[in-house]
Amino acid sequence: MNRISFFWKIFISMFIVTCFSLSVLAIAFRVSLPNSFFRHMGEMDTMMRPGVRILGNLMENRVYQIFGNTANEALWISIPIALIISLIASWLISRQISNPLNNLFHTAQHIADGNYHQRVDLPSDLEESQMDEIQRLSLGFNQMASSLEKTEEMRKQLIADISHELRTPLTTIKGSIEGLIDGVLPAQNETFENILVEATRLQRLVDDLQELSRLEGGTFSLTLQNFSLPAFLEKVFKQYKPLFDEKGIRFEHEFSKDLSEMNADPDRLRQILINLLSNAMNYTPTGGSVLLKVQMIQLSVQFQVIDNGVGISSEHLPHIFTRFYRADKSRARSAGGSGIGLTITKHLVEAHGGIIQAFSEGSGKGSKFIFTIPMLK
Ligand code: ADP
Repeated sequence: MNRISFFWKIFISMFIVTCFSLSVLAIAFRVSLPNSFFRHMGEMDTMMRPGVRILGNLMENRVYQIFGNTANEALWISIPIALIISLIASWLISRQISNPLNNLFHTAQHIADGNYHQRVDLPSDLEESQMDEIQRLSLGFNQMASSLEKTEEMRKQLIADISHELRTPLTTIKGSIEGLIDGVLPAQNETFENILVEATRLQRLVDDLQELSRLEGGTFSLTLQNFSLPAFLEKVFKQYKPLFDEKGIRFEHEFSKDLSEMNADPDRLRQILINLLSNAMNYTPTGGSVLLKVQMIQLSVQFQVIDNGVGISSEHLPHIFTRFYRADKSRARSAGGSGIGLTITKHLVEAHGGIIQAFSEGSGKGSKFIFTIPMLK
């Protein structure tokens, strides 16, 4: 069966309703006419000469016949005129209703074809509260299209970023192996170690990406448990102290006395601290210092990782939690960084219901990372 468009459905419905109304009107007119006629004739008789009938029954019937014919004629002329006017009105109203829906449909088709920038036209001066249902539907559709467009842009950017990140270590590995085959590079430990460094970098990148996709895809959950925060912090500090010592960086801690049990995912909390401490180690030169400070702020635990290293300039500061963002590309890459660590860290803090912020006075003036995790969840 052929599909009837929405326009025709509205048009035909309106037309049927009009025809029905006109038929009812005509029938009601015909049915009520004799009654009204003779009632009015009676009233006229009484008005002219009370008690005396001006016209006899026969005459009245004759006049009624003429009047009925006149009324019929008028009815037959008016009904087609009313029908034509109602046809035109139905056409205009149906167009008025179906046009926005057609626009919506065509825009949806464009978006389905991959043209994510398409939007349904809406009057720009209209507030949401002033919109009718179809305009609100269009507004909702435009919002959905915007978020699809954003997701698509992020997907493209992600593919571009990943390819870029994979290319550097792969090119080095390929170049080294070609050098070995051609005999340009000596088959000695240093060459193999360089290849291993790049392969490790690749592995770290893939691991980070997998972790990020789990966090962003929502397929991960925290394993919350109660544990002693002071004992936990001591352990992390002792684990990291030798690494800082090895690099010649002073590593100190300041844990307030009121720290007690906390409810969190200890593995994920360790991961957050390790990410921040590793960054502090990577971006602080030998001779510098790093402080891990933890205290209670009302009903939250506040963690601070403060270093006096290379710092972050104000133009980079707002972006450092964005994935693949590196303030100093060459330095971060040589430190093995992929620019995903802080993105993962932020996700983990937020999964605990907390917030994380970065502060720095500028390049060369050190950095401070503060994150807060509420005690009550
Ligand atoms: P990476 O793996 O490159 O370190 P991150 O996401 O951990 O990636 O960090 C993003 C960027 O933020 C880093 O490339 C670096 O430029 C900057 N950054 C992070 N921590 C520090 C810090 N403690 N001092 C200076 N810059 C930092």
